[in-house]
Amino acid sequence: MESFERIFREHGLPLTVQRRVILDSMLDRTDHPSAERVYSEVQAKIPGISRASVYRILDLFVELGLIQKINPPGMAARFDPTVRRHTHLVCRSCGRMVDMDAPGIGVLPLPDGRAYGFQIDDYQINFSGLCADCAKKHTQQPDK
Ligand SMILES: [Zn+2]
Ligand SMILES: [Zn+2]
Repeated sequence: MESFERIFREHGLPLTVQRRVILDSMLDRTDHPSAERVYSEVQAKIPGISRASVYRILDLFVELGLIQKINPPGMAARFDPTVRRHTHLVCRSCGRMVDMDAPGIGVLPLPDGRAYGFQIDDYQINFSGLCADCAKKHTQQPDK
């Protein structure tokens, strides 16, 4: 936790109770919660916190590099405390998102975008499909 305090201090930002609770709730998790999910979880610990505050604090953490924001197409953004670039599997039925260890994928060098007038600084790879549970449901109840 000390290093987070240092990061906040370096940016001249107070590590408020709200920020600390939300940071605590994000650390070490691998389920890639949406902002809505984080909001419903921290409500019990910080009564009266607004949805807008939770969204703003999560975006601040992304700016500070403490967490990363993942934007699967057609879904709400998800948040991940693992900030190194990595690959995700996303279930298009239930939204489950897991880290995928795919050697060689997710470590592509950034291409030169200058010919397009772009400064490329990031990319995301999210594979979509069905998780094991949803695949099972699919075979039990075939589409009519
Ligand atoms: Zn699923
Ligand atoms: Zn992840």
